[in-house]
Amino acid sequence: MQRVDLEFYEGPVHCPFCGRKTYGVGKGSISRCKHTLFAATDEGLEYCSRKVKRNVLEKRAERDGWDKATDKFAHPKSVKFALYAPPPAFMGLYIGYAPE
Ligand SMILES: [Zn+2]
Repeated sequence: MQRVDLEFYEGPVHCPFCGRKTYGVGKGSISRCKHTLFAATDEGLEYCSRKVKRNVLEKRAERDGWDKATDKFAHPKSVKFALYAPPPAFMGLYIGYAPE
């Protein structure tokens, strides 16, 4: 999985495969397209597609945190955006996409 760090937290974030806006609509809400694999914050999973083994991801996150756990998808063309809220929040948001 390719990882892209974004220096803004407000969005918008668009799917790299179809261009649909998947984050930043309204008040920090996450929508999804058919390419969205997952959306997670440091507090947990917001969305998880059927292509992702949710229980495996959650176990990994317990051990390594959500940022590291969501880095580890084997799909060669998948992309993850990592967004970090500025201090004092330091909250991370991680959204992953894969082509079909
Ligand atoms: Zn898409």
